Amino acid sequence: MTTTTDSAPETRSFEADVARLLHLMVHSVYSDKEVFLRELISNAADACEKLRYEGLSDPALLGDDGQPRITVTLDADKRQLVVEDNGIGMSEVELAEALGTIARSGTRAFMDRIAASKDAEGSQLIGQFGVGFYSAFMVADHVDVVSRRAGSEGAARWSSDGLGTYTIQAIDTDEAPARGTRVILHLKEDAAGYTQPYTAEHSVKSHSGHVPVPIFLRDTPDAEPRQIADGAALWTKPRSEITAEEYKDFYRSVAGQFDEPALTLHYRAEGLHEYSVLAFVPETRPFDLFDPDRGGRMKLYVRRVFITDEAQILPRYLRFVRGLVDSADLPLNVSREMIQESPVLAAIQKGVSNRVLAELEKLSSNDTERYLKIWDNFGAVLKEGLYEDFARRETLLSLARFKTTASGEGWRSLKDYAAGLKDNQTAIYYATGSDLDRLAKSPQLEGFRARGIEVLLLTDQVDSFWVTAGADYEGKPFKSVTQGLADLGLIPLPEGEAPAAASEEVGAFIAYVKTVLGDAVSDVRASERLTDSAVCLVASEQGMDRQLEKLLANAGRLGSATKPVLEINPRHALITRLGVLGEEAASLREDAAHLLLDEARIADGELPADPSAFSARLARVIGKAAG
Ligand code: ADP
Ligand code: MG
Repeated sequence: MTTTTDSAPETRSFEADVARLLHLMVHSVYSDKEVFLRELISNAADACEKLRYEGLSDPALLGDDGQPRITVTLDADKRQLVVEDNGIGMSEVELAEALGTIARSGTRAFMDRIAASKDAEGSQLIGQFGVGFYSAFMVADHVDVVSRRAGSEGAARWSSDGLGTYTIQAIDTDEAPARGTRVILHLKEDAAGYTQPYTAEHSVKSHSGHVPVPIFLRDTPDAEPRQIADGAALWTKPRSEITAEEYKDFYRSVAGQFDEPALTLHYRAEGLHEYSVLAFVPETRPFDLFDPDRGGRMKLYVRRVFITDEAQILPRYLRFVRGLVDSADLPLNVSREMIQESPVLAAIQKGVSNRVLAELEKLSSNDTERYLKIWDNFGAVLKEGLYEDFARRETLLSLARFKTTASGEGWRSLKDYAAGLKDNQTAIYYATGSDLDRLAKSPQLEGFRARGIEVLLLTDQVDSFWVTAGADYEGKPFKSVTQGLADLGLIPLPEGEAPAAASEEVGAFIAYVKTVLGDAVSDVRASERLTDSAVCLVASEQGMDRQLEKLLANAGRLGSATKPVLEINPRHALITRLGVLGEEAASLREDAAHLLLDEARIADGELPADPSAFSARLARVIGKAAG
């Protein structure tokens, strides 16, 4: 049936982000432009899979054309390359939505990075990120997309030169595929090579040889299509028949990333439930790793039919894992909503999650270097599991690696830490902050260093949360070095370094500072944790770790922050000098009391409580010293 339409094409502007992305794409210096073909084929395959799924409940959609197929047609004379599928297709509205706006959360995160970078860097970034359909503009100066939605009586054409606008228009159905989408690339002069059969075939086979839909190539518009990829699902083949290269290409097409897999997991679960798993840990961090909307990226298939990528097969803290599960046990005709309730899915979720962690654990002992790279990229995400997944906390703690006062350039595990515990040490000590270098220098660590006690240096946001979630390692709780009294008295200093007791004058000075500072602090006391610095701030016995308190206060989640404790090093030369000052130096003592608090605040990365009073006091003190 043919419907006629005579509407004029309507010109619309791209969403602002798309326009910018296209600009970068067109001016990209990125050399591997050939990826455009993989992106288009992966879209075509997705469209076929969507139709296969919808066809389960509405077989009429398939009509008499039940075999999914992707056809690439070359036309050297017209310098055109066409990718056509008989998948789900797009209506006029869907065309505008899918190709005129950026819908993927990952793309948005990517655009934020681009916006923050210079143009040249932006082009580099494109090389690390699957930009999907828009990559067509790296090789084409004009792209037409003609599509007909399965089951629809109408067809539409989307058309753009990638310079900021596109047109969209209803067209006669005989100008469109009977069902599905035809993407026509009008290639740029320097991309003419893709109309050569050898080049196109090679590119398709090496980048898309294992998509689960067969691919045909027509060397010229009149030539017979010949099959160049069989559409056999890679994950159904035995591991021994799959090369590393094939895994890599499959990973790229399933993950939309351009890097290599850092870990490939391919196995078949047998027993109570049967399913195949092919999963990858990426080598680089996806752009949207910390996007709150980012769900998992594991696809669910049932007997090779794609069902959904929203089955949450893995817990959130494994959201960096890409891949799929193909189940033999779930009923094919089950709705996506019902699948969520299925005990089979629950068993799969449990099995796959445990297996991923087990593989990571294995890697951590077999190939430390590779494991540490994964930890470096995804450790901050895995640590979310420490408070989200109580049942696997122990496993996650054993996977965790830390920067510590003893790690140097390397990483330490809790096992390493436990092996170096000092006599009488009852806790695993940590310090949290946002900057590793500053953290390593914080005064609160001094007494721990002097006693050779290792301290974990935690710089990820998530750290402040899991350490307070009641975790322990081999019976030892985690304890902040900025929290409460530091039980350091029980752990001896090395021979000959026993601290001299604080003098009476210093005791009196500390009491004096407390009266001067009044409500600004909850207490002022002599410190056991300081050796080199004069002062530091710690939380009171009931208070939270100082960094966590700051985080919560900044997020408006804390009504009132508790007042910190100012600890003073009674053995510090400055303090002993201040201690012996007499009444004649009353104003200097008072200035010093305030300045000591400000000094401690600054060491914690904060501002003095009252910057102008701070400047005035500092000026007076320097003036006295100079005068
Ligand atoms: P992604 O594939 O990651 O969603 P793309 O930029 O590659 O991002 O594609 C954007 C959207 O355009 C797809 O999500 C899909 O809705 C639509 N689309 C692209 N190509 C096709 C096609 N051949 N058939 C049907 N829909 C398509
Ligand atoms: Mg895509």
